[in-house]
Amino acid sequence: MKTIGVIGGMSWESSAEYYRLLNRHAKARLGGHHNARSLLLTVDFAEVEARQRAGDWDALGTQMADAARRLQAGGADLVILATNTMHRVCESIERAIAIPFLHIADPTGHALRAAGVERVALLGTRYTMEQAFYSGRLRERHALDTLIPDEADRVEIHRIIYDELCHGVITDTSRRRYQQVIEALASRGAQAVILGCTEITLLIKPEDSALPVFDTTALHAQAAVDWAIDRDRDEVASP
Ligand code: GLU
Repeated sequence: MKTIGVIGGMSWESSAEYYRLLNRHAKARLGGHHNARSLLLTVDFAEVEARQRAGDWDALGTQMADAARRLQAGGADLVILATNTMHRVCESIERAIAIPFLHIADPTGHALRAAGVERVALLGTRYTMEQAFYSGRLRERHALDTLIPDEADRVEIHRIIYDELCHGVITDTSRRRYQQVIEALASRGAQAVILGCTEITLLIKPEDSALPVFDTTALHAQAAVDWAIDRDRDEVASP
């Protein structure tokens, strides 16, 4: 099995979920006492969040590139970034390393297309919902149309992520608010919903949603493990 390098801490609440999912999926595939070989590098989210608010994406690109380089130097064979928002600077990461980088939107895009979805609701931070880096990739690489909530709902979805979910606060009131937003997007024609922030999975389970749920945290973690196992087998089969 190859070693998965995870850039985490954004927030650590979702990194903990990644860690659990990586190991669970490796065990599901390999059985016994198997778990995922991994390295987790945790950045300080206070610094990241302040730079996001200041719009200092250049500094964030440098910071993420540095984290990826450290994972590569530590022996990682693959790098994943355990947050949707920070994929805004994924090119800086890709330029910094010689090992592959697995973009979070790609396993999600593949799963949506495999399910026959063409029009999908996107929930995430305002950066993810409003800037082109995420919906653009879904359109260009996966031929998916995205729908986002109206402005008042986007503000509230974003606030709940930073003020509650990133602090591990999970409430019925916020779950209900997300459910209403998903219902509104369903009535506008969305066929499914992307949980496009790695903490939303802590609040919304498939049974809470009026639309089929595509959870970026689970899909990303699973794709990383599949890569780590299958790439290793491919190399043994054709050295
Ligand atoms: N984990 C979140 C995401 O997937 C938000 C935190 C961040 O800004 O990185 O977008």
